Amino acid sequence: MAKKSKGQELAEKLTWSAPNIAKEAPKQEGKAQKFCEGYKKFLDEGKTERECVAYAVKLLEKHGYRPFQEKTVYEPGDKVYYVNRKKALIATTFGREPLEKGLRINGAHIDSPRLDLKVNPLYEKNDMAFFKTHYYGGIRKYQWGAIPLAMHGVVYKKDGTAAEICIGEKPGDPVFSITDLLPHLSGKQNERPLKDGLKGEELNIVVGSLPFQDEEVKEPVKLLALQLLNEQYGITEADFYRAEIEMVPAFLASDVGLDRSMIGAYGQDDRICAYTALMAEIDSKSPSYTTVTILTDKEEIGSVGNTGLNSDYVLHYIEDLADLAGVPVRRILRNSICLSSDVNAAYDPTFSDVFESQNSCYINRGCVLTKYTGARGKSSSNDASAELLAKVIGILERDGVYWQAGELGKVDEGGGGTIAQYVAHMDVDTVDLGVPILSMHAPFELSSKLDVWNTYRAFKAFYK
Ligand code: MN
Ligand code: MN
Repeated sequence: MAKKSKGQELAEKLTWSAPNIAKEAPKQEGKAQKFCEGYKKFLDEGKTERECVAYAVKLLEKHGYRPFQEKTVYEPGDKVYYVNRKKALIATTFGREPLEKGLRINGAHIDSPRLDLKVNPLYEKNDMAFFKTHYYGGIRKYQWGAIPLAMHGVVYKKDGTAAEICIGEKPGDPVFSITDLLPHLSGKQNERPLKDGLKGEELNIVVGSLPFQDEEVKEPVKLLALQLLNEQYGITEADFYRAEIEMVPAFLASDVGLDRSMIGAYGQDDRICAYTALMAEIDSKSPSYTTVTILTDKEEIGSVGNTGLNSDYVLHYIEDLADLAGVPVRRILRNSICLSSDVNAAYDPTFSDVFESQNSCYINRGCVLTKYTGARGKSSSNDASAELLAKVIGILERDGVYWQAGELGKVDEGGGGTIAQYVAHMDVDTVDLGVPILSMHAPFELSSKLDVWNTYRAFKAFYK
């Protein structure tokens, strides 16, 4: 190599930008590919928060985790988990340091934008049967028409037993769909603003078109649909009032690109952080500090409800840990660090005008640290301190993790929030860290495998 000029040497010393991993560490590609096979399976097995919890519990049990119990003596290296109402989960590996030195908390969410069935969903119109929906989370409604949808959920029957529904995932299963207009007749619809391309009350799901054979019945197509559901699940129309049914994209996770460098799938926000956090938790055998890995629900609608992080369920869990050690919970919280692990918007060259290129995250440059989220002057953000950023960057660099920093788009272009503010509310030092995503909240989101791998490495380093 030619000798560097003085200016080149100085620039190397004084300037910084996040390197492209694919250029600087191409050897990571193999490990990333291998790691992401497990991630794709996680995405396919868990398309709802309930399914994610069930699959995570299976993995945790397989790796020696047992349900957390009060009044038990736990040793360093012991592994426990706690499930909150089948929709959220906390896993812990006890650390070598005493609890009062603080916890290492990592919180990701396992709910994703989708279409929920209304409580009274089924109707017939012009000899076709439909489900009415109410969308969940921030969706761009026009993206949900004319794609295959699967039906997932749970229905409680009058006798108290539950029917677990999953239609549209197994090969050969039927799927469902929302209709959209043909271009030949969409002249008027084309004049609508894009946000109204499909309107909320147009997100109606086609369920069937054949009638129950009986001239005397008023709505025979609806009746046949009910008969088929009753035969398979033992449910009746009244049971929809005791149900939670989510319609999600029916396709599986795929490699994307000729080079297979990316993953395309539904629900990567935020199962991408949930999986990497869970794997780092499982792979931490003897951490210094006790770990608290949270897979939470309801982030997409503001962390509401008692399975969302605006509830005290995590605090109560940490209080239970404090009781074991006989130390005040506030001392533990004050000394803890939390990664609020969630995705950020990757710079999209096609829509570059909404990004500020110098402060955006890019695919293939590693996990992204987000000092603050929020909108309009950072309102509703957590805004991590310089001290905490110094500590977390130190942890990442100690282990050679590829990381970058990013804001969510240009100032005043929009914005968003995460669970960070709710964890910080407990007096815990919290910062957002996650994975850059293209087409976030779309039925098919894109991520980079190198970024997934480095996010896992970041979480491993955090739990060392
Ligand atoms: Mn998210
Ligand atoms: Mn989201």
